[in-house]
Amino acid sequence: MRFETKNVHFQEKLDSKEISKAKPIYQTSAFAFNDLDDMESFFSGEKSYMYTRVGNPNTDDLSKGVADLEGAEMGAASSSGISAILAGVLAVAKAGDHIIATEDLYGGTYQLFAKELPDFGIEVSFADFSDLQDVENNIKDNTVLIYTESITNPLLRIEDLEEVVNLAKKHSLKTMVDNTFATPYLIRPHEAGVDLVVHSATKYIGGHSDLSAGVVTGNTTLMKKVRGRITNLGSNLGPFDGWLGSRGLKTLSLRMERQSANAAALAASLAEDKNIEKVYYPKNVSARGNGAIVTIVLAENVDVHEFFRKLSWVKVVPTLAGVETSVTHPVGTSHRPVPEKTREKLGVTYSMVRISVGIEDKEDIIEVFKQALEG
Ligand code: PLP
Repeated sequence: MRFETKNVHFQEKLDSKEISKAKPIYQTSAFAFNDLDDMESFFSGEKSYMYTRVGNPNTDDLSKGVADLEGAEMGAASSSGISAILAGVLAVAKAGDHIIATEDLYGGTYQLFAKELPDFGIEVSFADFSDLQDVENNIKDNTVLIYTESITNPLLRIEDLEEVVNLAKKHSLKTMVDNTFATPYLIRPHEAGVDLVVHSATKYIGGHSDLSAGVVTGNTTLMKKVRGRITNLGSNLGPFDGWLGSRGLKTLSLRMERQSANAAALAASLAEDKNIEKVYYPKNVSARGNGAIVTIVLAENVDVHEFFRKLSWVKVVPTLAGVETSVTHPVGTSHRPVPEKTREKLGVTYSMVRISVGIEDKEDIIEVFKQALEG
């Protein structure tokens, strides 16, 4: 099946008396068995479900759907993007190990890596991934993993994943990539040889700003470890959120196509505006488009607070990726945990605004930003 077809046909046809077209929600903490032999059939692998923390049809739908699109053997869903990142890292690294992560990282991931992992005995170095020599210089005897984002947040730098994988292979290291901003519609990191791909499914995978979820994908051997971590750490996704995520996922292709086209139009319009100092919008991400996030730096004469206030129907949020256009202030929210020095080095300034472009009419989107910048 081609991408757009796979995108809507990841769920099995149901085999029961009443065949519901939509997948039912298995809103249950556990599954019942007829007798002890029947229960043994779960442990022998004949039956798939026993206890929702260990596995549930709705959460498995979401992880299978994402794994299919990423071209991976297996996926696992968890309660959030951050818990998915943690499960992925812990499938590779243990106390005493060292990992290297990009320094232009989502603030919550930075927080997890800089504040939490060291307490569990995992050492983390942050490197400048625009210079892979800097990454290589950080490799030590106990390094096990290289971690980056396919499109970085909020500067929208496109990672050269093949180069990252080549470097990792040279030193027998595993690679893990956060593909949240790109989604498999635009970039499929496993095709470049990346071992683990992770998503904050809270964003484009769900697409409707109504759930918190994460998904990791990879080969079966590694993914069994990831799934084990999610089960044993109790960071599983609830059935209803799995169902919402699977429902949202089905329109990923349509949403990304429209949102990327709208973002390209908005970026072109903002590039002409004298009240904007800089527009970050990537080029050559994929033949399908360049993504739906546009990051801008307001010119000195623009009052940042006033700009946010004047955005009429555009919501001011600490997140991205819903079907509605929204804006984020990275310094005040997503990148608040990143040290000021690192933010300054990267160019994440107070005047920076991250725009998550939605599915509205593109002329309305362009107009609402023009109006907020006028005067
Ligand atoms: N990765 C990226 C790129 C993100 O933007 C976010 C959240 O904004 C996360 C991971 C964390 O995801 P969650 O908030 O679902 O835990």
